[in-house]
Amino acid sequence: MATHRFLPHLPAETLAAQQLAGLKWTVRHAFANSPAYRAKLEAAGIGPDDISTLDDIRTLPFTTVNDLREGYPLPLLSVPEEQVVRIHASSGTTGKRKILAYTQKDVDTFALQMARCYEIAGLTPMDRIQIAVGYGLWTAGAGFQLGSERFGALTVPVGPGNLEMQLQLMADVGTTCLCSTASMALLMAEEVERNGLQEQCRLRKVIFGAETHSPKMRRSFEEKLGLEGSYDIAGMTEMYGPGTALECDAHEGLHYWADLFIIEILDPETLQPVPEGEVGEMVVTSLCKEASPLIRYRTRDLSRLIPGTCSCGRMIPRHDHILGRSDDMIIFRGVNIYPGQISDVLQHFPEAGAEYQIVLTRQEGKDHLLLKLERGADVLAGNDVQLSRAVGAALHKKLMARVEMEIVDPGALPRSFGKSKRVVDMRDQE
Ligand code: ZN
Repeated sequence: MATHRFLPHLPAETLAAQQLAGLKWTVRHAFANSPAYRAKLEAAGIGPDDISTLDDIRTLPFTTVNDLREGYPLPLLSVPEEQVVRIHASSGTTGKRKILAYTQKDVDTFALQMARCYEIAGLTPMDRIQIAVGYGLWTAGAGFQLGSERFGALTVPVGPGNLEMQLQLMADVGTTCLCSTASMALLMAEEVERNGLQEQCRLRKVIFGAETHSPKMRRSFEEKLGLEGSYDIAGMTEMYGPGTALECDAHEGLHYWADLFIIEILDPETLQPVPEGEVGEMVVTSLCKEASPLIRYRTRDLSRLIPGTCSCGRMIPRHDHILGRSDDMIIFRGVNIYPGQISDVLQHFPEAGAEYQIVLTRQEGKDHLLLKLERGADVLAGNDVQLSRAVGAALHKKLMARVEMEIVDPGALPRSFGKSKRVVDMRDQE
């Protein structure tokens, strides 16, 4: 069986040279072929040949979601229209959806990006990959399929939902890898269990992404399906689609394709780099994207780069899982706090429920942070004081900030508060 067919080997010395070449090309390409980029670069005093070191990236202007909206329907277009072979879009929660264009080379790179993910997940061309994510305008289905075919596995393109068909195909075709959201994987696992299909189920791996998941949820579908492993995938329409990064079996972060894009981690307030290994907003610059190149694109996703080498031994850099959105960042007594960091701490307390709310108030000129935390569903109220103390201490250690705690009954917090609306800031009302 062929190994290392798609994965890059990216030791620091050669990677830097590769990234510099890609960065120079991208700036030259965008300047020459995109009026929008050219105007932005000129306004920042940047010429097409002004990049001579990787640090020069910090002189470049940012690209934001507004640039995508303003350029609708083909934002950032940097090739003649006849070279565009496809578009994809992401659902815009506000305003118009974001449309991104692809040349044939972009489609090929998209396929490579995803093929690398299947290789990291330890699949082989003997695997049978069932794709249970959205097809059509969205990048998900297209990406998983392009990658699977490029990788050489048998592809079963079912699309989302339709549990009955999913299960039947899984059994009949002998699917070994499922690509879906974590909640879909859990649904299927429950159905497999309920219908006693474990014997017919040959599934050994699940690649999941596109939504937040709890470790409990993940363990649950891993156990019910008897998996060898499951892998968190990252991606975004702006950077081709899914597959910008994937966990390996070491589960020490997600390996990302640093030869295809540069990640900067910046403080979302100051837009300056954070110290190595700390959390900030991921800002992405593509290195070989033709139709819609990205120059310092502010993803609004929060994560951190993981220093050092993964224990799997691969020379491929890593970032942490996505810890939330930079719009959700709280500045509390001079410290940047992200809801994702709080979820990370709560995971270590089995007595804690998954729902919480952050309430910020100002009393006598001083900011206070109250964390309202639901007790776990089967946990008795008697230990609230101990739980408060333990969680408070863990949060203090992680956030370097004092957090007041209140434990509430399961179901007490409003469920309409989406994952990004956990913060109630009343500091300006007092
Ligand atoms: Zn690894």
